[in-house]
Amino acid sequence: MNTQQYDIAIIGGGPVGAALALALRASELKVCVLEARPANAASSDARALALSYGSRLLLARLGVWDTLHGVSDIRTIHISQKQSFGRAVLHAAELNVPKLGYVLPYPALQDALTGALQSTLSPSRLRPPRYALPASGRGERDSAGEGSGKLQYITGASVTQLTSEADHAVIGYQQDGSEHTLHARLAVVADGGKLLAQRYPPEMHDYGQSALITHITCSAPQANTAFERFTPQGPLALLPFKEGYELVWTAPHQAAQDMLAWDDAKFLRELHQHFGDRVGEFLTVAKRTCFPLGLKRAPQQSPMPHTVLLGNAAQTMHPVAGQGFNMGLRDAWELAQKILDAKPEELGSEAMLAAYRSQRRTDRETGIRFTDGLVRLFSNDLPLVGAGRAAALTALDCLPFVKKFVAKRMMFGANG
Ligand SMILES: Cc1cc2nc3c(=O)[nH]c(=O)nc-3n(C[C@H](O)[C@H](O)[C@H](O)COP(=O)(O)OP(=O)(O)OC[C@H]3O[C@@H](n4cnc5c(N)ncnc54)[C@H](O)[C@@H]3O)c2cc1C
Repeated sequence: MNTQQYDIAIIGGGPVGAALALALRASELKVCVLEARPANAASSDARALALSYGSRLLLARLGVWDTLHGVSDIRTIHISQKQSFGRAVLHAAELNVPKLGYVLPYPALQDALTGALQSTLSPSRLRPPRYALPASGRGERDSAGEGSGKLQYITGASVTQLTSEADHAVIGYQQDGSEHTLHARLAVVADGGKLLAQRYPPEMHDYGQSALITHITCSAPQANTAFERFTPQGPLALLPFKEGYELVWTAPHQAAQDMLAWDDAKFLRELHQHFGDRVGEFLTVAKRTCFPLGLKRAPQQSPMPHTVLLGNAAQTMHPVAGQGFNMGLRDAWELAQKILDAKPEELGSEAMLAAYRSQRRTDRETGIRFTDGLVRLFSNDLPLVGAGRAAALTALDCLPFVKKFVAKRMMFGANG
């Protein structure tokens, strides 16, 4: 059987894997993206994403930002806690940025990234790969997917095996009922975290919470204002989108399942009781979906030589601070810079991967600790802790340097 040779194989063409491929597209590297979803199968993921201003800048550099349609702006963020005083309001203007963030559906982001990838695929580019392993008489199988130049996007390709040998990773995948194998100097695992989870279990913490997400409309929406409300049950976020809000309502698993079953009238009543009056009456609710939430942190070391984990495969966080994709995008961007700067013999080496991990350590650890701390601190009704939280929100609201520090971290990460 022919075995294809690549410089980089990206396992998972989700938003993070696709962003990495785009960041490498102008190089001479031979790159493939293996994506389990079939070609032209639109993502049906119901979640909406809040993107930071820093992510907007990176997506613009990738040539994707201007192709995104229907993005809503966030100019103000209102943070409060239920049954207690203390609140903080962040405005873009006082932080000297045009917008604090943006809201868009996951499928819209995925489509834009995939569209940009597909537009770079050119069957006529036959330049030799920059570093790819010599074919050693094995020959190369014709394009398994779209494009046969230096970037291949292989759809309907579900990776089932990943191992490593002395100077490359070996990847086995299934496509159209057949088994295939390819070799890569560097395998990037961007599959959301399933492929290696059994062999190399991540550190896990179950918050005992699920996120119920849906779209709602209300009688007094506040333009471009996002709300984050902490309650003992878990945080609740309203992200401005179109004529209403994308709702992320976290609750213990069973309570969230019960909320799925409520009829619309009861759901809207309970939401009003839980959130309060800030946007008036809740009028309509769309289809509801639930996601179980937890913290997953893969070990700092690469699980095996010539392999690196990216995005949710490296860290899966609670959505309370809207950090998951924003951090994954920074992972992708900084890995791409390390790959582009590597000398041919360094690609996929332990030295290169150690330098990448070291560069990402502070941003990753700070983001995980911040998100985890928020969930633990705000998801209880202990009176003393409640007073401390109120004091923290007041400090955030009143002290400009605290506000700027927190907002900068949220927008650009710790390396920004
Ligand atoms: C309710 C909720 C709300 C969120 N809100 C926000 C937010 O506001 N802001 C934010 O920044 N983040 C948010 N997140 C987190 C964000 O969704 C993730 O961080 C982001 O989707 C991670 O992208 P990824 O590409 O790493 O993984 P994924 O999105 O999981 O994509 C993985 C890709 O790999 C493919 N794949 C999987 N297995 C294989 C395989 N074996 N072979 C080949 N392909 C494979 C999948 O088909 C998929 O396309 C939220 C998450 C949740 C659950």
